[in-house]
Amino acid sequence: MLPVPRFERSGQLARILEEAGRILSNGYVEWPPRGNREVVEEALRMLGCRIPDRAGAFPLEELGFFSGISPSPLRVFESTEELLYRNWPTPLVKLRSLSGEGVSAWAKLEFYNPFSMSVKDRIGWSMVTEYLARNPGANVVLYEATSTNTGMALAAMAAVKNLKVKLYLPATIQKASDILLTVMGAEVYRKPKALTVEFIEEVDEEARKAGGAHLNQFENDANFRVHLQYTAKELDLQARSVPLDLKGIVGGLGTSGHMSAIALYFKSRYSGRVRIYGVQPAPGTAIPGIRRIETGMKWVHYVDFDTVVDVSPDEAVEHAIRVARSEGLLIGLSSGAVTAAFEKLRREKLLEKGDYVLVYPDHGFKYVEQFAEYLSRKTVIGEQQQYRT
Ligand code: PLP
Repeated sequence: MLPVPRFERSGQLARILEEAGRILSNGYVEWPPRGNREVVEEALRMLGCRIPDRAGAFPLEELGFFSGISPSPLRVFESTEELLYRNWPTPLVKLRSLSGEGVSAWAKLEFYNPFSMSVKDRIGWSMVTEYLARNPGANVVLYEATSTNTGMALAAMAAVKNLKVKLYLPATIQKASDILLTVMGAEVYRKPKALTVEFIEEVDEEARKAGGAHLNQFENDANFRVHLQYTAKELDLQARSVPLDLKGIVGGLGTSGHMSAIALYFKSRYSGRVRIYGVQPAPGTAIPGIRRIETGMKWVHYVDFDTVVDVSPDEAVEHAIRVARSEGLLIGLSSGAVTAAFEKLRREKLLEKGDYVLVYPDHGFKYVEQFAEYLSRKTVIGEQQQYRT
């Protein structure tokens, strides 16, 4: 287990997130605020709350804190865009095969999102809708560096909003991605680099030269905000409905958007009682969708994680296979990594009794190539059961 590096926190975003944390832990806002009014207003917007229009003390619920979460009970939707946000919350399911001896594992299944079948639909939606709110009627080409999922989400949003999209993939990503993204209407390019973050500036430059829009999931606060306003809040409502004795949340780090928002939310609202575990690939290895903290990510700098756990690609695949064979869920490799990290924490007796949420970012169907490579290496090839491990 690795200590989490401490970062210098300064600037306007640090002030806003600190204030958002304070508001979350109080559970109410006094109006007019005693502190810097502009910062408090921004913090309320970041949390998806209305700005009070009179003096008083307002519980967050009175400011519309949970009003964005409005699932369609019979699952009938007026558009595919509505299918996305009115289908939230994504399911939370107990994994019986990973639970026992007082520790229970609950998986939040982000592959129940319709476009990329991943957590990235949330940011594709928020980045595009926020962009169009700032640039109404824009007829623009979207540019993005992606390891597939954000690309699928943006291609879908581009289809829905009548826009075009150019996507740039690192060389290390499975070949199927080019085909999936092309079918979804994107123009796809490969960059001869291992990680998306290694060519963000090139994509920025190409977008600038062509007069396109680089939404940039790595820097765009619409990424963090959608997870704060939806992913974290819905998980809170789900956990309270059981109710869970929530002791920790385990999740992978890519842009750090979803786990940083979850960290800010649960650490503030539950006074540090919920531990936050980040998951990254072991040094010198690659797991699609996640990367090491030191490769640079924005929002981890502003929130507190308890521990970061290293996982190897083989451990990620092995745990994805284990979950498929014990729970019937075909999960993706970063979900396998999250499961492997949870098992490591448990094995090292670092988990107190209670409930733990494992955030599963996507489904296993995109990773046939990695599964095939693993199985061909580890398999005793029999006459008929070629892929029996
Ligand atoms: N897992 C998968 C499969 C992903 O595609 C991503 C992001 O691309 C992540 C995990 C990490 O999510 P985040 O960017 O919110 O840190």
